[in-house]
Amino acid sequence: MKSRPHALRDIATRQFDVCVIGAGASGAGCALDAQCRGFQTALVDAGDFASATSSASTKLAHGGVRYLQQAVAEFDFGQLKVVREALRERILMLENAPHLVHSLDFVVPCFSSFDLLYFGTGMKIYDWLAGNASLGGSRILSKQEALHLVPTLRTDRLAGGVSYRDGQFDDARLAVTLVKTFADSAGEVVNYLRVVDLEKDSTGKLVATIAEDVFSEQKITIRARAFVNAAGPFSDEVRLMAAPALPRRLVRSKGAHILLPLEEGVNDALLIPKTEDGRVIFAIPWQGRLLVGTTDQEVPTAEEPMVTQEDAAYLLRHLNRYTARHYAHDEIVSAFAGVRPLVQPDHSRQTKKLVREHEVEIDEHSGLVSILGGKWTTYRVMAEHTIDAVAKTLGRANTRTNSQHLPLAGATGYTAEYWRTLVREYDVTEATGRHLAEKFGMESAHVLELTKENTVLKSPIVAGSPSICAEIIYCARHEMAVTIEDVLARRIGLQYFDWRLAMQAASVVASHLARELGWSDQQRNEAIHDYVGRIERWLAAIGLQTG
Ligand SMILES: Cc1cc2nc3c(=O)[nH]c(=O)nc-3n(C[C@H](O)[C@H](O)[C@H](O)COP(=O)(O)OP(=O)(O)OC[C@H]3O[C@@H](n4cnc5c(N)ncnc54)[C@H](O)[C@@H]3O)c2cc1C
Repeated sequence: MKSRPHALRDIATRQFDVCVIGAGASGAGCALDAQCRGFQTALVDAGDFASATSSASTKLAHGGVRYLQQAVAEFDFGQLKVVREALRERILMLENAPHLVHSLDFVVPCFSSFDLLYFGTGMKIYDWLAGNASLGGSRILSKQEALHLVPTLRTDRLAGGVSYRDGQFDDARLAVTLVKTFADSAGEVVNYLRVVDLEKDSTGKLVATIAEDVFSEQKITIRARAFVNAAGPFSDEVRLMAAPALPRRLVRSKGAHILLPLEEGVNDALLIPKTEDGRVIFAIPWQGRLLVGTTDQEVPTAEEPMVTQEDAAYLLRHLNRYTARHYAHDEIVSAFAGVRPLVQPDHSRQTKKLVREHEVEIDEHSGLVSILGGKWTTYRVMAEHTIDAVAKTLGRANTRTNSQHLPLAGATGYTAEYWRTLVREYDVTEATGRHLAEKFGMESAHVLELTKENTVLKSPIVAGSPSICAEIIYCARHEMAVTIEDVLARRIGLQYFDWRLAMQAASVVASHLARELGWSDQQRNEAIHDYVGRIERWLAAIGLQTG
């Protein structure tokens, strides 16, 4: 990927076929699809790549057991179609990014024979819907088997469980990797470039976006023949920029997650099948933590949501009903929340009932193509449908996507044992080898090559984390990381692992970024101050102490 100043200059001077607004799962997927079909494509985001919903998901590459439940209970074949499509996409995600997506076993605890039969049958339908895209069949577990798989489960009244297999992935890294794959295919991309206006010709057709550099406040014009609105929960704002009379289409729903210490021996995820508000919650081993989520609450705006004390209490209350071990509020190590962009159907405003199906909307007058709704798991097929629509508007309807079988950056040649090569060839610890392989795949070697020039870069960013300083340099040079949070959250994940550890790491990250990006001492100090201040606000919102 080019440096940001270089990319900023180039994006303002070229004429593109397609300009994609928003670099979350939907936008990054659309940009890659368009570029790979031969369209000269530009991709911009108002923040960092995946800094909105796409780094705040439950990280499941799944058909959605919850949607299956709804489909069966309400004879809703639309939902069944969504589940089936996602199950097909799940396996493509696994094949195209094996370093970032893997299968994971889940256990549904059951407290009666009826539950065993109900969930056992439900999971058989899930298996059947997956067909030959199945990751492994479900089965009914005895009480002992359920406890063996999830040793923290409470034992009283437990009748057994149902196990099934689904997909888990690193959402932020997958989005960054999609963007990187796009840039490697000669796509032009810039982060922190907010579209503030759209320019039209005399017939009302869009011809350019006016975008503002968030750091310098300088405005640039990006010229293209087609425009894709992939602004996720902000899509209505972009639609209204193109055509102010359009009705709003999105309902926005906040979903919160908390992260807790992961107990020894817990390898399987727990599906909590029933909440007070008739939903399901997951407690999932994820990168050394127990990830618990999510809530579902309609919100008026898509602006950065915070996890509150009430959100955390709701999640802990439900988790503790199912576990023998009591999880306390002050054990929370980090948290995050995202806003679901749900397409509003006419009949319901209950957010937990809205389908996660996507819709491609074409505004005939301005030509804006909006991709609305959807799920992370279906990002590829959403992109395919969107770029099919774009291709039609560009008079190139005969183009076909190759994204079903397109290995993403770092995927080619990757195996689950690749970390051993890193340990052997670069003399790093097992924890660092595994961490690098799981974040960067085959590109880890490029990260570690930096340590040959400067062995200091092999040192940990902060004690207690497997991340090393070379990652900061690599992310600044090759992944357009330009803030402390870009590095610690979306590139290497330390912020999700532990907020307080991330605060400690901030000054080291800032020092390396300062050298790479030419910051003054004042800019470096301000960056640390801003970052630490953000985490302090999140800690306060959830009711935790800083120290
Ligand atoms: C709590 C929660 C849990 C979820 N769990 C799962 C799950 O386990 N599995 C699954 O498959 N799906 C899950 N989803 C759904 C999935 O995360 C979303 O469908 C997906 O991330 C949406 O991606 P997006 O690209 O459409 O939106 P976003 O990721 O929000 O991206 C939109 C981007 O547009 C940018 N933008 C906005 N306005 C402008 C502008 N004017 N100019 C430039 N850029 C702009 C934003 O900065 C943002 O980066 C979950 C969602 C939530 C909220």
